[in-house]
Amino acid sequence: MGIYENLKMIRENIKLHALKSNRNPDDILLMAVTKTVDIDKINEAISFGITDIGENKVQELNDKYPFLKDNVKFHFIGHLQTNKVKYIIDKVKMIHSLDSLHLAKEINKRAMQKGIIMDCLVEVNIALEETKYGVKPADVVNFIKDLDAYENISLKGLMTVAPYVNPEDCRPYFRKMKELFESIKKIDQKNIDFKYLSMGMTNDYAIAIEEGANIVRIGTGIFGKRLYKVEGN
Ligand SMILES: *Cc1c(COP(=O)(O)O)cnc(C)c1O
Repeated sequence: MGIYENLKMIRENIKLHALKSNRNPDDILLMAVTKTVDIDKINEAISFGITDIGENKVQELNDKYPFLKDNVKFHFIGHLQTNKVKYIIDKVKMIHSLDSLHLAKEINKRAMQKGIIMDCLVEVNIALEETKYGVKPADVVNFIKDLDAYENISLKGLMTVAPYVNPEDCRPYFRKMKELFESIKKIDQKNIDFKYLSMGMTNDYAIAIEEGANIVRIGTGIFGKRLYKVEGN
C-alpha cells in the first residue's frame, strides 16, 4: 500500500476510535514520524494533508529542514542532548522529550536568546522501562514544579512511548498518563498551559486515543518499515 492509502486507513481508524470514546476526531493531531524517511516521501505525505512531522535526531532534522514543503511544522521527539539544543531551538514547534532540569535550563537559555517561548512536553517513562528515557511517573509533579522559574518554556503537556507489547496491555499506562495530565493541568503555575497528551504509535494508537491522546505519532503505519542505513554509509 502507498502513503495515500495508509493515511486514509489511519485517519479512518482515528475517527472510529475517537467516536467510540465520545471524542471529536478533529481534536486529534496525526503527526507523521519521518525519521529515516526521504524528502520525496515526506513531501508526498504533506501533499496528502500532513501538517506536522516528528524527527528524533538533530542532524537529520537539520538536513531535511530546508527541503520540505513550506508550512510543515517540525516536532522534536527523540532524546535531546543539552549541547544540541542550539541547533533546533528556532526550527521546531515543540520539543516532546523534556526529561531533565539540565535540559530545561539549556532550552530556556537558548529560547531567551532567540526571544521566543519554546513549547515543550515532559516525557514520562510510564512503565519504568530501563531502556527508555523520561521522568518517572512518581516524580513528574515535582519535576514540573522545579521548572517554575523557566519563563521561556511553556509546558504544553506530556509525552510517552509505551512498551512494545500487545496494544491492549498498554491501556493501563495510557490511562495513568491521562490521570497525570489532568492533575498537572490543575496546578497553578505560570508556565503550565497543558493542552497535549502525545501518546500512541503505529502499534497502539487506537488504544491511546481511547484513553485520551490528542497527538499520535505514526511512522511505520504511514511510510512502511524503516530502512536503517549501515553505519558509515
Ligand atoms: C519512531 C518513533 C515513533 C513512531 O513509531 P512507529 O512505530 O513507526 O509508528 C513515535 N514516537 C517516537 C518517539 C519515535 O521515536
